[in-house]
Amino acid sequence: MKITVRAQIERVAGRIAAFQWFVDHPRIEDGRCRYCGTTAASCPCIGNTKRNLIYWENRLAVLRAEGTLTPREVEGILKGSRRMVKKRERDEMLARNS
Ligand SMILES: [Zn+2]
Repeated sequence: MKITVRAQIERVAGRIAAFQWFVDHPRIEDGRCRYCGTTAASCPCIGNTKRNLIYWENRLAVLRAEGTLTPREVEGILKGSRRMVKKRERDEMLARNS
């Protein structure tokens, strides 16, 4: 049971970290969104991502309540996910710029 919930939390934490990263670092180039191509002011990506983020944070809250992981353990998983996303984005950026 503990392993199952942990695995689910890890998956959800990965999504939260990725969405959070996008919200914090929107990819706007020349005033346009790199994803949808619309001008930054009317780009729907950030709004969609924020909605996704809320959804997955709610999922995490449910898993947290169901599982037996301590807040400390959950924080550790979230921290690890954020680190992973950061590394992945950095590597991507380096690959783009080289
Ligand atoms: Zn967009």
